Formats: sequence, structure tokens, C-alpha cells
Amino acid sequence: MTAKIIDGKALAARIQDELKTRVEACTEHGHRPGLAVVLVGEDPASQVYVRNKVRACERTGIRSDEIRMPAETTEAELLAVIDRLNHDDAVDGILVQLPLPKHLSSELVIAAISPEKDVDGFHVVSAGSLLTGRTGFRPCTPYGVMKLLEEAGCDPAGKHAVVIGRSNIVGKPQALMLLEKNASVTIVHSRTTDLAEHTRRADILVAAVGRAKMVKADMVKPGAVVIDVGMNRDENGKLCGDVDYENVREVASAITPVPGGVGPMTIAMLMTNTVEAVERRLGL
Ligand code: NDP
Repeated sequence: MTAKIIDGKALAARIQDELKTRVEACTEHGHRPGLAVVLVGEDPASQVYVRNKVRACERTGIRSDEIRMPAETTEAELLAVIDRLNHDDAVDGILVQLPLPKHLSSELVIAAISPEKDVDGFHVVSAGSLLTGRTGFRPCTPYGVMKLLEEAGCDPAGKHAVVIGRSNIVGKPQALMLLEKNASVTIVHSRTTDLAEHTRRADILVAAVGRAKMVKADMVKPGAVVIDVGMNRDENGKLCGDVDYENVREVASAITPVPGGVGPMTIAMLMTNTVEAVERRLGL
């Protein structure tokens, strides 16, 4: 069997096209959605991410406000900017690009964002909403994975889903979102003994580890749907996922590539969260 490739790039483009219409509807109701992106320091990867997010805003018609601050910004200065954005009615979503320079506490900074504008879904209020099944912002990467499963025609209900990784931004919220869709969920991590024994029982396998090609074909159940969140460099410096793509695609029924799978979806879901914030407020 050769797996169907789930095209995240195409799906993300489609979602952003659909968002254009929703942004127009919000604007007609008197409020154009706005996203503030805060970048502290000069980290090259962060600069690329921020640029891509601002471009996605341009594509969807969302107003973007890019705030660049020097690496030596103090916590008080950053918190003052967040406070200003919290009170700015033109700003519906606030994103602080992580990682922050070492002297700044990301926990403190995220906690300062108003939960109503937490479009990244990292605030404890957003995490609590997900845990308790309430309306709230879902973290963009696992939210994007749920859309990819939908696109692949894979309903998690009744399936056994295994998530590798338990970070607050991917693994844990991913497991909760799969549970919300009625999967039976197992979370595995670096302290799990015999990881493969678990992964081999997965109908849906989500890898969010950060180790190049660690998921081998013999760790995957034939016919499983495999979603690769990882973004790593292989031995030749080429971008690759956590899944040994070439071999696993011979076993799985559907699989996401890296690049072109989960990555583009993360940005599409950030745009979705921003528009949803406005729609909720306008009662659309
Ligand atoms: P973290 O480093 O925060 O978490 C990694 C998780 O993997 C941890 O829970 C860790 O376990 C677990 N882990 C590490 N080694 C092993 C192992 N050998 N076996 C089993 N589990 C292991 O990473 P993130 O969750 O932030 O990101 C994961 C990957 O996803 C990275 O490659 C990152 O670049 C990528 N990513 C991609 C995004 C996208 O848009 N495509 C967005 C966000 C992340 P433990 O908790 O025990 O330490």
C-alpha cells in the first residue's frame, strides 16, 4: 500500500481563501479583523515565521500590526506593549513570537495577554477551555492537525489515537482535541517504555517530538493515518519530519509530508482563530 498524501499546503490555501469572505463579512459589520504580532530580538527563524504570518494576514485581508522590539527589551517594556494591545479595540489577536530572549519569561508574558485575544491558544484560560470542552482558542498546530484528519476523511471517533510528545503547545492539546472528537487516546513521551508497542496499535499516529525520522515503518500499524508535526534537519541539512516518510508511506493509508503538511496549517489556523475572535464578538 502506498499512502495517500495529505496536502497541507493546498488545504491551508483553501482555508485562507475561505477566510477572505469571512473577513469581508466582519468588515461589512463594522470591524476589520486585526492581528498584532510582537517580535523581540533578531532570531532568524522567528523573523521568517513573523514574515509568513504577516503575509498570511495580507492574503486574507486581516489587518496586521507588526511590533519589533530589540533583544535587550525589559520585561516591563514588553508587558507595557501587551497592555496597550489588550486595550486597543482595533486589535483582535495578539501573538508574541516564541522563543523570547532568555531574560524574558514566556510564561509571564503569555499570562499577560487578554484571554479574549489569545489567538495562539497558549494562555492557561485557553488551555482550561480545551480541557473542559468550552469555546475558546485552540492552539494552532494541533487545531491544524484536526483539519488535516478531516481532509483525509478520517473521523477519530472510536479510533485509537497515539500522540508522541506531551508539550503544552502540541502534544497535550493534540491529545485533548482527539479525545474531544471521541478517539481513545494514548500519549507517549521520552519516559515511555517500549514506544513502538504503543505506536503499532495506533489507527491515528501523531508525531510531535523533534527527532528526525524517528518513527520507522515497523512502528506503524498497516493502514494507519500518520501526521508528522516534527520540523527537523536530516544528516544533509534538509528539512524533515519525525517520521521516516519514504518507508512509512508504504505502510500507512494516509500521511502528511514535511514540508507541506502541518507547517502551513499552523498559520492558516492562526488566521482562523483571529477571524473567529471577531465573529464571536460580532455575533456572526
Ligand atoms: P518539545 O521539545 O517541547 O516536546 C517534545 C516532546 O517529545 C516531549 O514531550 C518529549 O518528551 C518527547 N520526546 C523527546 N524525545 C523522545 C523520544 N525519544 N521518544 C518519545 N518521546 C520523546 O517540542 P514541541 O512539542 O514544541 O515540538 C515538537 C516538534 O514539532 C518539533 O520538531 C517542532 O519543531 C515541531 N513543531 C512544528 C510546528 C509546525 O507548525 N509544523 C509547530 C510547533 C512545533 P518529555 O516530555 O518526556 O521530554
